[in-house]
Amino acid sequence: LRGVIALDGPSGTGKSTVARRLATLLGAGYLDTGAMFRAVTLAVLRAGVDPTDEVEVTRVAEGVDLRMSTDPADQDVRLGDDTVNAEIRGQAVTLAVSAVSAVPRVRELLKLHQWRIVDEACAGRGGIVVEGRDIGTAIVPDAPLKVFLTASADARARRRTSQDAAEGRKSTLDATRADVERRDGLDSSRAASPLRPAEDAVWLDTTDLDVEGVLDRILGLVDE
Ligand code: C5P
Repeated sequence: LRGVIALDGPSGTGKSTVARRLATLLGAGYLDTGAMFRAVTLAVLRAGVDPTDEVEVTRVAEGVDLRMSTDPADQDVRLGDDTVNAEIRGQAVTLAVSAVSAVPRVRELLKLHQWRIVDEACAGRGGIVVEGRDIGTAIVPDAPLKVFLTASADARARRRTSQDAAEGRKSTLDATRADVERRDGLDSSRAASPLRPAEDAVWLDTTDLDVEGVLDRILGLVDE
């Protein structure tokens, strides 16, 4: 792969699984930008700061030592020397992450970090698959391939619930569905880089597709 594949869409569309598999198949790097917002949110909660307090959230974000791996086989997210992979998927972070992600300075800081990671991966492996909400619109608007994944609310809630079960978190379909809809509403309506498809993104509805089906479609679009 040369350059960046931007993979955007709401939660539960299968973005992370697809992005990681795609990166492995293409020998490219992989960046989960949602994990970056989650890690900053964890730092905010650990500092005892109210996630809606923009001034305090900004102060925490400016001091965060966030380290991301771009190896699709070894996804490590660290705050300093502390590995936080499991903790950033927990309920406390999931509830607070949309508020933290709406703070403009948080987005600005993470954008600079994401640009550094993308530059490094392109120089090293030649390319990177980046997944998030605003990759095709705000982070890498000149990416040669942008894919916007969608799926019905039911399918998204079902995927999130089975992912929770597989990773040992307790959740119910109804609560997960409510959370997915709440977060997508907040992510789509915020002022700073809201969740929306880029004009030149390819839309892919994953409701009735399994991971292999989604991969096939995207691989058919990749110009290696
Ligand atoms: O993808 P994931 O569900 O882990 O993302 C968690 C949250 O991070 C999203 O609900 C959204 O608020 C935020 N996010 C964002 N921009 C991105 C990626 C994630 O605002 N590029």
